[in-house]
Amino acid sequence: MSSSRSPWSKRSLTAQAMGHVDPITKAVVPPIHVATTYIRDEDNAYSSGYVYGRPDNATIREAEGVLAMLEEAEAGALLFSSGMAAATAVFQALNPGDHIVASKVMYWALRNWLMTEAVRWGLAVDFVETDDLDALRAVVVPGRTKLLWVETPSNPLWTITDIAAVAEIAHAAGARLAVDSTTASPVHTRPLNLGADIVMHAATKVLNGHSDVVAGALAGAKADEFWAKVASIRKMQGAILGPFEAYLLMRGMRTLHVRTAAQAKSALELAQRFSAHPKVARVLYPGLPQHPGHDIAARQMEGGFGYMLSIQVTGGEAAAISTAAKVRLWKRATSLGGVESLVEHRASIEGPGTPCPSDLLRLSTGIEDVEDLYRDLDEALRVS
Ligand SMILES: *Cc1c(COP(=O)(O)O)cnc(C)c1O
Repeated sequence: MSSSRSPWSKRSLTAQAMGHVDPITKAVVPPIHVATTYIRDEDNAYSSGYVYGRPDNATIREAEGVLAMLEEAEAGALLFSSGMAAATAVFQALNPGDHIVASKVMYWALRNWLMTEAVRWGLAVDFVETDDLDALRAVVVPGRTKLLWVETPSNPLWTITDIAAVAEIAHAAGARLAVDSTTASPVHTRPLNLGADIVMHAATKVLNGHSDVVAGALAGAKADEFWAKVASIRKMQGAILGPFEAYLLMRGMRTLHVRTAAQAKSALELAQRFSAHPKVARVLYPGLPQHPGHDIAARQMEGGFGYMLSIQVTGGEAAAISTAAKVRLWKRATSLGGVESLVEHRASIEGPGTPCPSDLLRLSTGIEDVEDLYRDLDEALRVS
């Protein structure tokens, strides 16, 4: 459902979760539908459209409606039990022998899955720097490459890939483009409008925003055969999100625009201030003019450059780990996109073979007072 059919903005529609009111009680918060089974009509049909809990659920559909509206997804949205379940459903909809090309710098667990399970499944996988269009053109094989998978801004260097340009390369080769837009959020970027076929979110992150739900989502540009295959995989493999989680996700999404605006504003301020910090060698944030992807980001992102940034500390790996150990307000934890700010030494968690520099700290900016966030990290840097 597109907001173009509504007189209200996406922000208004999201705040009211599409304005749904329970028809019986007139409650402004819809009930959570937990039933696993539904009564059949006397003529043996299922006129309600619901049959069983594994394929579908009314609470799921309500949350999917919000996401489909946000992403302007003609095919609608599908919620999964995690971001990984959403992403892997897309790859499993391909056939053994198909060639895929993915961003070299991307979410580590998915990169691992592609290098192991996807290969076992019979997919041929190439990783390239998808911000380098010539490198991308060189590895795409027309007719054989079926999917390009791009993450932008990508973990943890916040590399920016030009979605419109990559969509053109994919489509010229007869391939689809899927974009992991988790860190951009539907507020800052709408990949489907830029030519992508599928957009994926780890809804665990900023979509829910409260670090209390693991969820994933896909939204599709076209209700074609491939999209139907992905939906069938969710149904057959039981990868759907539970109704309680869908309800929590919908509650979280109501404040998405307010949270992302505040988080992006603070992230930009932190990026600017830490750029001038004596203990910081480099700040990686697409909102900074010196970031290599800044011009493309300025074109393809709206209303800010997101809540994620990284800093490289002058003292190297030991100083980075020590800084993360000394913060008091920032929380030393993995994940991102929540209202609480998180700091993580990524190289430790990614292990050998990571493209992540060892002196790098990944920062997920929350909604706390930005002055407190600066002061806490500044003090930890100075004593490390
Ligand atoms: C967290 C994350 C994922 C995986 O999502 P889960 O819900 O943890 O399975 C995928 N991509 C990105 C960019 C992420 O940050």
